[in-house]
Amino acid sequence: MLRVSNYINGELTAPAAGRYLENVDPSTGRVYSQVPDSDGDDVEQAVAAAERAFAQWSTTPAAERSRIMLQIADLIEQRLEEFARAECVDNGKPLSLARCLDIPRAVQNFRFFATAILHTQSQTHVTDGAALNYTLRGPRGIVGLISPWNLPLYLLSWKVAPALATGNTIVAKPSEVTPMTAYLLSQVCRQAGLPAGVLNIVHGPGASAGAAITAHRKITTISFTGGTVTGREIAKAAAPLFKKVSLEMGGKNPTIVFADAAMDQAIEQSLRAAFANQGQVCLCGSRIFVEQAAYDAFLEPFVAAAKALKVGDPLEAETDQGALVSKAQLEKVCHYVNLAREEGGEILCGGAPPPPISNRCKGGFFYQPTVVTGLGADCRVNQEEIFGPVATIMPFRSEDEVLAYANGTPYGLSASLFTQDLGRAHRLAQRIEAGTVWINCWLLRDLRVPFGGMKQSGLGREGGEEALRFFTEPKNVCLAVGECETVSKQGRAASEPRQ
Ligand code: NDP
Repeated sequence: MLRVSNYINGELTAPAAGRYLENVDPSTGRVYSQVPDSDGDDVEQAVAAAERAFAQWSTTPAAERSRIMLQIADLIEQRLEEFARAECVDNGKPLSLARCLDIPRAVQNFRFFATAILHTQSQTHVTDGAALNYTLRGPRGIVGLISPWNLPLYLLSWKVAPALATGNTIVAKPSEVTPMTAYLLSQVCRQAGLPAGVLNIVHGPGASAGAAITAHRKITTISFTGGTVTGREIAKAAAPLFKKVSLEMGGKNPTIVFADAAMDQAIEQSLRAAFANQGQVCLCGSRIFVEQAAYDAFLEPFVAAAKALKVGDPLEAETDQGALVSKAQLEKVCHYVNLAREEGGEILCGGAPPPPISNRCKGGFFYQPTVVTGLGADCRVNQEEIFGPVATIMPFRSEDEVLAYANGTPYGLSASLFTQDLGRAHRLAQRIEAGTVWINCWLLRDLRVPFGGMKQSGLGREGGEEALRFFTEPKNVCLAVGECETVSKQGRAASEPRQ
């Protein structure tokens, strides 16, 4: 059976304790590979390798770092079909989605940051006639990157690429549930000539391998994407060590449809927002608010379109909805749909696993796209993140009412608005508590923009300049340039206590 290896000091290595976990194909429910059950000893080795590699990598010219990263991107692209298939089998997502979204985006992440570092600027501040200040930005050191299972390579590379580009060395831990494309990435890094120890990938559970990364004193910086409960644990562990932390966490995102929206577009985009990747995207719009005047016009075609989504074998070309990532995730979705019933919701479609899909997939973790109406905005189903193919639809009558609903959860990751009234769109965009607001679209991403959440959805931002800043430490250098008298006057004025 295929065994995933750790990637430490440039080598594909077995876990120190020799223990492995079973890795399940969610479309069949069967174990198909083994993943290292790494612990603190493996993390220790990875940190030692990252420490040894730091001096050289952090002083490697940007052009050379860029060249190696572009090579990594090219090699992933050359093996796109293999990567896409691995992501599909490991995660349960449709092969078509991995092929057109996950893997191309990982390639783009490497290309984006490989070229971004060739075009950065540093700041200068001239202090009247007395001094010239300039800002140096150096790498932070050894950084710990912890990523989830829903977009495995997409989100891992979203962290690895800026961290590498800015000269850090890395200890990364992908989700133990979906280790396969991170393993393929380690093969590609060896082939691309990434120096040993610059990127180390330790596979294993969050509670052991992940916690060892968070707690390690030599890891200065933690970038995490995952659930809010885990993020809170990480923040607690990192705070006493004064680590720099970026947390990208859960969401309970609103989709808001006004009666004047282009209705076909609003339905198509809301459907994508609700069910893409089986609803397992942090940005999914799982709470849909429709203005009363358009409620019927929206509801019927939306439910018809949800029913028409084909739940099927992720390897089949016509499949829209693959398997959920694990049995635990399937149970969580079943639990929340039962809760929706208990809370008085009406299930308009779905509400159960589909009939057996095929002989191959009879043990898989499938669930039908589910639409629920009749729930209040405050009930648990509308407050807690389900992270599955379940959307609720609720009517509203005014901007203020829908704004209160949109902002009425502990989360603040993203929101989508559909309206032809641009004045209203901008007004609401300003008042919605979310890190990203899409107007008449969903998941339209530009890698340069700040990405992240407010409230319990996140701390800090990723993307473009934000990521380059996060992975670097600014240092101001102040050079006196004025006459001695001006300099000493300025210095005195600055250091004199205020009355
Ligand atoms: P988890 O929080 O369970 O896990 C995320 C990562 O953290 C995994 O690698 C996990 O390891 C690891 N981990 C778990 N416990 C610890 C710990 N104590 N210390 C260090 N690391 C730990 O999230 P999921 O993998 O279940 O992903 C789903 C969640 O991610 C959803 O809530 C979703 O909203 C969120 N998410 C947020 C995004 C954003 O950008 N805001 C994007 C995508 C997802 P392991 O699983 O191997 O045990």
